[in-house]
Parts: sequence; C-alpha cells; structure tokens
Amino acid sequence: MQTKIETINAESLRYAKEIIFSGGVVGMPTETVYGLGGNAFDDAAVQKIFAVKGRPADNPLIAHIHKDYDLSKIIDYDPPYAKALREAFLPGPLTLVYPSTDKVSKFVSCGLKTLAVRVPSHEGAQAFLRAVDIPIVAPSANLSKHVSPTSAKHVYDDFAGKIPLILDGGESEGGIESTVCDITGEFPVILRPGLITKEMIEAVVGTCGEYAPNLAAGERVKSPGVLYKHYSPRCQTRLFADREVLDAIAYAKQENGKGKRVCVLAEESLGGQIREAGLAWLNFGGNEREMAARLYALLREAESVCDELVAIEPKKKDGVMKGVLNRLKKACNSQDIPH
Ligand code: AMP
Ligand code: MG
Repeated sequence: MQTKIETINAESLRYAKEIIFSGGVVGMPTETVYGLGGNAFDDAAVQKIFAVKGRPADNPLIAHIHKDYDLSKIIDYDPPYAKALREAFLPGPLTLVYPSTDKVSKFVSCGLKTLAVRVPSHEGAQAFLRAVDIPIVAPSANLSKHVSPTSAKHVYDDFAGKIPLILDGGESEGGIESTVCDITGEFPVILRPGLITKEMIEAVVGTCGEYAPNLAAGERVKSPGVLYKHYSPRCQTRLFADREVLDAIAYAKQENGKGKRVCVLAEESLGGQIREAGLAWLNFGGNEREMAARLYALLREAESVCDELVAIEPKKKDGVMKGVLNRLKKACNSQDIPH
C-alpha cells in the first residue's frame, strides 16, 4: 500500500472521508500529537487501529469530535460540572471520560462503562472531523511503545506502507498527549497528566483529584494506558535526577569513552556545562511549554543519532511538567512511574 502525505484541503478531506467510510484508518494532526483515526461506530475499523499499532487490546481509545457535534449521541450522562470544563478548555488538549455504554463500537472502551471524548483545537483536525461528522477514535499514531509522533513525517516513519493517508497539519504545537480526566464521579479526577493541569481544572470547578494506580490483586486499572511502557526511543536510555547533573555527565563521558555515541538531553541552563564536557547536547528547552513541545521530536532524534540517551530530569516538576516528566520517565522506563 502506498502511503500519501497530503496537506489539508477539500480534495484530501474528500479522500480521507472515503477511507474512513470504507473502514480504513487515516493519520491526522492534532494540537497534542498526531492520531491514527478510524470510524468509532465501525467494529472492524476500530480493531484495525489496534492491529496496525500493535496496541494492547485492553487499552481504550479516545473518540474525537468536532466542536458542534451533538455529545448526547455518544454519552449516557453529562455530569453537572462538565459544562464548565468544556467551556473553559474545549476545544483543546483535555479528554473527558463520560459514563457511556453501547453508543460506539464495543472495542473502543475495551469493556469499560465509560467513553473518553476529546474536541481537538487544531484547525485541520476540526476540518477533518467536520467533513466526516462522526466520532473518530484516534490513539497516538505511533507503533505501540514507540515515541509518539508530532509531525506527519513521524507518522510516516512508523506506518509507511500500512495506512493509505496522512493528513499533514504541520508540527504539533502542544507536544504531549491530552490530559485525561475522569468525570464519572462527584468531582473530576486526572487519569493522565497533560497540558491542562490540575490547578487549571481546580480554578474552574474547585476540586480535582489525581489518580495513581495502586492496585489490589485482581482489581482493574481505571485507565489501562497508564501501566504500559510507552514513548520509548529505540536506543538505550538512562534517566538521572536533577540533583545528579555531575553523575550524569561523568556517566555520559565514561560511556562515550567506550566508543558509544551518547547524547545528553537536558534543559537549556545545562547546555554550556554539557558541551564543555565534550558531549552532544539535546536542548530540552527553557520553559515547560517548550519542553512539552520538543520532547518527542528529541527522543526520535536521539534514537537516530545515539546508542544511548542520557536524560537529566528538569528541575521544575509541577504544572505542565507533571505531564512532561510522566512521559520522560516512561520513555526511559524508570521504575518510579506514577502514571
Ligand atoms: P492514546 O490515544 O494513545 O493517547 O491513549 C489514550 C489514553 O486514554 C490511554 O491512557 C487510555 O488508557 C486512556 N483512556 C481512553 N479511554 C478511556 C476510558 N474510557 N477510561 C479511562 N481511560 C481511558
Ligand atoms: Mg499513545
């Protein structure tokens, strides 16, 4: 199969629509990362997404809708505080998990009695969702466990020959996946941290919890995706705490000395020190939004030029950095994984 990369216009949207309504999947841009989209009502299309990605069958998908789509077509109950969240943050990088059963393909929620719904703000994503006018389930468009994609080229690198079309909407501005927020209870609970933070949600509805899986034997995790190794570059990785800068540099020099190609991923303020030590530096960025936007492109760069990535945790840990650190820790397969 030939994989086309097309900019978003009337013609490519027509082609995308034709693929979706014949059960196929399409690479699509969003403001967080690129998605692999399929018809949420079509069992075979949803199963195809799992198969193409190699995604574990118990990791549910997010349904993406355009901003005027009638939510009541896909959810059973709209909690009283949900409207304020939608008005404050949507369209945008916030996924809301509603009570829902039997409205879309049973393969979307993997047996959970909930449905995760998102309204992306990316203009190209909106144009695509409007053209099809159905919910599109779209997990990140990477092979399972690999680094998430923030450009059409990243999607191509993972799925060339396996999907017919990638809609090219430029580089994803946000860079990490949406905040996933459960709204089935009395107050919202964040299941996966992202660009919309706990503090931002609290400012709108007063209370917001954070879910950390701490399962009793046999209990089912609320958001299965939080358990898997994810986002990982295809090179060795080692993550150091922010207070271990000197250890990280010594380790990187030692491994470099063995003839290994080593890159050090670290925030902007450490760049001088790392280069003075004669090491290749991947500039994570100065502020939290830059770090979020750059993370996945840097992890993909690392796997293409290094044998080992030595990452140093940024100093800032709160707000948006919670989401960034969550991804970085999973990418480096650290044992200390809160989500
Ligand atoms: P991805 O599409 O690759 O960004 O992954 C979607 C994330 O949303 C995963 O962490 C899923 O576990 C989570 N998710 C999707 N649907 C639900 C749901 N119904 N309840 C809880 N978490 C969900
Ligand atoms: Mg993903």
